[in-house]
Amino acid sequence: MTRPTILVVGGTDSSGGAGLAADIRTAAAHGVDARLAVTAVTAQTDHKVGTVAPMPPALVAEQIAFALEDGCVVAVKIGMLAEAAIVAAVAEALAGFAGPIVLDPVIAASSGGLLLSEEGTAGLIERLLPMTTLVTPNLPELSILASRAAGGSIAEYPAPASQTGSWGMGEARPQSHTVSGRSLRDAGNKDAHSPRGLDTSPALIEQISYHGMSRNAALVRSLFAAGAGAVLVKGGHGDGPDAADLFFRSGETAPRRYAAPRLDVALRGTGCMLATAIASNLAAGLALEDACGAAKDHVRALFEREAGRRRG
Ligand code: PLP
Repeated sequence: MTRPTILVVGGTDSSGGAGLAADIRTAAAHGVDARLAVTAVTAQTDHKVGTVAPMPPALVAEQIAFALEDGCVVAVKIGMLAEAAIVAAVAEALAGFAGPIVLDPVIAASSGGLLLSEEGTAGLIERLLPMTTLVTPNLPELSILASRAAGGSIAEYPAPASQTGSWGMGEARPQSHTVSGRSLRDAGNKDAHSPRGLDTSPALIEQISYHGMSRNAALVRSLFAAGAGAVLVKGGHGDGPDAADLFFRSGETAPRRYAAPRLDVALRGTGCMLATAIASNLAAGLALEDACGAAKDHVRALFEREAGRRRG
């Protein structure tokens, strides 16, 4: 039997922890072949983002066109996109693709270095959200995307007192960061993101779940208004004993909850791995909710293995 094939669109991380290397490992672990469209090359360690070199948009589009031309690709995962011109190229190149598209809206590395410009974020909302089967924001990404999708300023969503410093985007627990190395922001990008609007209060994920009219539910609704097919909110940046993810489908009131114990382990690239695991599961024929549940189990097992390794 031939193996299912997915296309992964994203950036390289020289540390090997996140980005396309994590995507390839994840697809392989699922028995799925991965074709690649490289959007950017980055120099990174676990603690800093150095140079971010976006690929020419036409080259990104050509990689996608070649990957799709024989019709073998059955699902697409999109990760880091770097800038608006690449967002536009990806949207155009995928316009005729009829299979599921999973979008991990990568905005920054956990070290704080930016991986998508603000214009790129606007393009992602306008061009890519309407094409996606599933978008997988973590809590900071949800806040940023939703406030922009709603056309408002992020200041509409005041930050809680607990979250006033710099910020990270990995799935590990938030730490305090300083942006080091040459990030997009450092490189003089005038449209750097603001960290405002982030609510990581302990009960945030439960508020989304149980208080249908809460501010956080409004954030998810605005992603639907922007055209997202379904939203998986990752709870890794929250607090409390559980790192629960919540799955929302437009028009449904009760989200599905995927829980996992919160382990005090920092793992790079977990957002990449979760989204690629979902795309791999979809390629293998699972329904969307089941694809998310199995992907959560996959990432949970990686966390548990890492925690075991550190315990010795
Ligand atoms: N670097 C690249 C190229 C990525 O695609 C991503 C996430 O998708 C990251 C870094 C962020 O990973 P982390 O949150 O582990 O820093």
